Amino acid sequence: MHPDFTYRQLRAATTEEVLAQARALAAEVSELDWDEHSVWGELGKYGPGELMLHHEDRPLAGECPCRRRKSGLCVHVTAVALAYLGDTDEFRQALTRLPHADLVALLCDLADRSEQARRVIQVRVERASA
Ligand SMILES: [Zn+2]
Repeated sequence: MHPDFTYRQLRAATTEEVLAQARALAAEVSELDWDEHSVWGELGKYGPGELMLHHEDRPLAGECPCRRRKSGLCVHVTAVALAYLGDTDEFRQALTRLPHADLVALLCDLADRSEQARRVIQVRVERASA
């Protein structure tokens, strides 16, 4: 089972400041792996056994020896989460290269899979045609 969490849930579990710092560190995460409960990795002096994101928890929770934050994810656990989710800028650029018809098919497919996605897409479409 792959971890099922989103950027939105990650943003809810930490601060914009921590996210910005973690973006710079995400590329340095190695030994990235996961199971049904956690995602882990190695970052600097912190090894895979001590740096973990618990992806089943909402809000997302983590374990890290730094204990720098009393609430919310620290920069290290956030970096592991970003390493798992991937680079949004790269993702956006890849989408930009897709043919328009492929994007339409993709959005229709997404709307069929999720009622929430359908509502979000419909609001955007109505706004654009208003
Ligand atoms: Zn930490």
